[in-house]
Amino acid sequence: MIRILANDGIHPDAVTLLSEAGYEVEDIKIPQEDLPNILPRYDVVIVRSATKIRKELIDLCPNLKIIARGGVGLDNIDVDYARSKGITVMNTPTASSQSVAELSFSHMFGLARSLQRANREMKDHGTTRFKELKKEYSNGIELRGKTLGIIGFGRIGQAVAQIGIALGMNVLPVDLEIQEANINMDMLNSEHIRLSIKVETEEFDKALRKSDFLTMHVPFSGGKPLIGTEEMTRMKKGAFIINTARGGALDEDALLEAIDAGKLGGAALDVFANEPKPKAELLNHPKISVTPHIGAATLEAQTRIGQQLADKIIAFFGDDK
Ligand code: NAD
Repeated sequence: MIRILANDGIHPDAVTLLSEAGYEVEDIKIPQEDLPNILPRYDVVIVRSATKIRKELIDLCPNLKIIARGGVGLDNIDVDYARSKGITVMNTPTASSQSVAELSFSHMFGLARSLQRANREMKDHGTTRFKELKKEYSNGIELRGKTLGIIGFGRIGQAVAQIGIALGMNVLPVDLEIQEANINMDMLNSEHIRLSIKVETEEFDKALRKSDFLTMHVPFSGGKPLIGTEEMTRMKKGAFIINTARGGALDEDALLEAIDAGKLGGAALDVFANEPKPKAELLNHPKISVTPHIGAATLEAQTRIGQQLADKIIAFFGDDK
C-alpha cells in the first residue's frame, strides 16, 4: 500500500480522494528533527512551506517517490537533488494566485487607512479617546488613481494587475522575462462583457520611481535582496511596499530605516527573512501591517491545492484499489 505523510496539513477533501484511491494518508505533524526516523516509512511526503526536505533527509529515504508541495515556492526542498535520486517533485503553482493577490490588496486597503494601527488603538482607547483617534486617522487615501508597481508579473502579479485595473489603479508591472500579458477581466462575471486588457511590462527603475504602492511577487532563493537601501532611495517619498513573496527578497533593516526616516509611508509583510521568528521591530512597528505567511491560506486555495495534489499523486501511481 502507498503510504502518504501530509506533514504540514492538507484539505480533508484531498485525504478523502487519496483514501478512496486506496492509499494510506496520515495528516499529522512530525517535528522536523524526528523526520529522519519517521519519513523513511513513507512513499510520499506532502508539505507546505514549513517542513524542510533537504539532501540529508532525502538520503535517508530510499522509498520516497514523491515530494509534493502544496503551493508555489520550492525553496524548502532540495529539488535538483531529489530529482537526481529519481524522486518526483510536484507543486500546485496556480492554486493560490488569487488568494495571494487578494491578501496583497487587503494590506493595501489597510495601509491606505492605517487600519493596522487604528484597530489596535480602538481596542485600547476607543471608548475614551474616540474623537482624538478620529482626528488622528482622518488622513487616509484612496487606491483609485494611485500607481501600483508590480515586481514579478507571473501568475500572482497578473492576478494583482487584474484587481488593480478594476480598482482604477495605474499598474506598472516589471518582469525579467515577461514583456506583456493579456489580463482577462473575468472577475466582472458577466455573460455580456468580455474584456481582456493587454498590459506591457516596464523598467524596474520606472516602477521604483513612480509607484505609490510597490508589491512584490518574485521567487527568491537567497542572495542579495531585490529591494534594499539603494532601491528605496529611488522610490517616491511616502510610498508603500507590500511583500507577500519571500522574506529575503526585501531588506528588512533597510525597510525599517526608510520608514523611520520618513522616506517610505509604511509597508505590509506576509513573509519574513527569519520565519517563524520574525524581527520584533517589524511586528511592533505602527506603520507596518503584518500577517503570519497566510497568502495561500484561504478555504478556496486550500481546497484547490488539496484537489490538485490528490489528482497528481493518483495520476502518478494509478488507483491502488
Ligand atoms: P511565477 O513564477 O508565476 O511568477 C514570478 C515572476 O517573477 C516570473 O514571471 C519571473 O520572470 C519574475 N521574476 C523573477 N525574478 C525577477 C526579478 N528579479 N525581477 C522581476 N521579475 C522577476 O510565480 P507566482 O506564482 O506568481 O509566485 C510568485 C512568488 O509568490 C512565489 O515565488 C512565492 O515565493 C510567493 N508566494 C507566496 C505565498 C504566500 O503565502 N505569501 C503563496 C504563494 C506564492
